[in-house]
Amino acid sequence: MTYVDDVLEDLKRKNPYEGEFIQTATEILRCLNVVFERHPEFQEAKILERFLEPERVIMFRVPWVDDNGKVQVNRGFRVQFNSALGPYKGGLRFHESVNLSVFKLLALEQILKNSLTGMSIGGAKGGSDFNPKGKSDAEVMRFCQSFMTELKNYIGPEIDVPAGDIGVGLREVGYLFGQYNRIANRHNCVLTGSGIEYGGSLVRREATGYGLIYILEEALKARGEILEGKKIIVSGSGNVALYAAEKAIQLGATVIAMSDSKGYIYDENGISIPFVKHIKEEKRKCIYEYLNDFPDTIYKEGSKGLWNIKCDIALPCATQNELDEESAIKLINNGVKYVAEGANKPSTPEATKLFLKSGLIFLPGKAANAGGVTTSVLEMAQRSSNMHWSFEEVDSRLKRTMVDIYRNIDKMAKEYGFEGNYVVGANIAGFIKVAKAMMAQGIV
Ligand code: NAP
Repeated sequence: MTYVDDVLEDLKRKNPYEGEFIQTATEILRCLNVVFERHPEFQEAKILERFLEPERVIMFRVPWVDDNGKVQVNRGFRVQFNSALGPYKGGLRFHESVNLSVFKLLALEQILKNSLTGMSIGGAKGGSDFNPKGKSDAEVMRFCQSFMTELKNYIGPEIDVPAGDIGVGLREVGYLFGQYNRIANRHNCVLTGSGIEYGGSLVRREATGYGLIYILEEALKARGEILEGKKIIVSGSGNVALYAAEKAIQLGATVIAMSDSKGYIYDENGISIPFVKHIKEEKRKCIYEYLNDFPDTIYKEGSKGLWNIKCDIALPCATQNELDEESAIKLINNGVKYVAEGANKPSTPEATKLFLKSGLIFLPGKAANAGGVTTSVLEMAQRSSNMHWSFEEVDSRLKRTMVDIYRNIDKMAKEYGFEGNYVVGANIAGFIKVAKAMMAQGIV
C-alpha cells in the first residue's frame, strides 16, 4: 500500500455516500504517486489528508415563492475547499442534479484548475438544486434574492468571489449581485461574469471557448500543425461550445457538427455559427431550428450520435460524462487526432483511459477550460483598479495564460516521466503549487 492508497481508503471510510467526489479524488491521486516519491516532506506534513478535507462546507435553506403563490424550498451549497493560493473562486451551478458530493468534486477540480492559471486564487464551487429552466424571470429573481440573502454572509472580495456556471448566466448573476448590493450596501466585486454596464469584463463571455482554442492551437503548434483546414466537431451549443466554434472558424478550421440536449446537426461544408447563436442565445430554441435556414443540413435526434462523425478534432463542450467508452472507440477508430475538453469532466474515466492509451493528444478540462476563470480574475483586477481594458488587451492576456498552461503541463508531464500525458501533467502541476503554498503556511 502506498501513501496515496492509505489516504484513499480513509477518504472512502469518511465519505461513504459521496461516490462522485471519491471517483474524482481517486483519479487525481493516482497521478500523484510520483510526486510523493520525490517529496517525502509532503507526506510528513499530511498535505494530502489536508488537501482532501474542505476548509469549509456551507449548506443552507433557500425558500422562495413561485408565480402561483406557492412556497418552494431548495437547498443552497458553497464548498470553500482550499484558499492556500488566494481567495476562493469557482462557479455557482443551478441544476436539479447537484448535491454535496458533486460540489465537492467540482471544487476539488477547481483548486487545481485555478492553480494552473498561475493566478492567486483558491478553489470553491457552489450552487443549488434549483433549475431556472422553465421558470419565469420573476421566479428566478425571487430565488436568486433568497439564495444571496444567505450566501452574502460567506463571500467578499478578499474571501470568496463566485461566478456563473451551468444555469447561472448574465441574468442570474445580475439578480444575485443586485441583492448583495442592496443588503450589504456595498458595490464590491463579489461575483464575476457581471454585465458590462456594472463592472463586467470584455471577453468574459467568449473566454472559455476562446481559451480552449488557444490551448489547442499551442498543442498543434508544438507538433508542427495548424488549425487551418482541420475538421472539428463540437458538442453542445451553449456558452463554451459557441465561442470555441467561433474562434476555431476564425483560425481557419471547419466546424462540421454541433449538438444540444435533444440532437445534433451535421454539415460537411461547415456550420454557420451566427445562425446557431441566434437560435440558442437569442431565441433559446432547439438546434433543430437551424434547418429552417439550412434545410440541407443533417439533423439527428439524440446527442450521442455526434461522436460517430469522422473528424480531426473533437471538442466536448456540453456536460459531464457526455462522452463514454463506446463514443471514444468510435472517435479513435475514425482517426481523431486531438480531443480537448471545454466542459468539466465530459469524458468518462473509461473514455479518458482509451484516449490516453491510443496516443492521441488529450487536453483535460481542468487545463483546457481554464480560460473562464482566468478572465474572471482579469475582471476582478479591472474592478479593483477602476480600469476598463479593451477587448484586445483582455484577449491577449487570456491567450498568454492558455499558452503558459500548455507549456507548464507539458513540462511537468515530461519531468515526471509521462511525456504527452496531460492528465498527469495537469494534476501534478496544479497540485505541487498548492502543496508548496500549504507547506509554507504551516499547519492550518
Ligand atoms: P450552457 O451555456 O448551459 O450550455 C450547455 C450546452 O450543452 C447546451 O447547449 C445544452 O443543450 C447542451 N447539452 C446539455 N446536455 C447535453 C448532452 N447530453 N449532449 C449534448 N449537449 C448537451 O453551459 P456552458 O456554460 O457552455 O458550460 C458547458 C460546460 O462547460 C459545463 O460542464 C461547465 O461546467 C463547463 N465550463 C463552463 C465555463 C464557462 O465559462 N461557461 C467555464 C469552465 C467550464 P440545451 O440548449 O438543449 O440545454
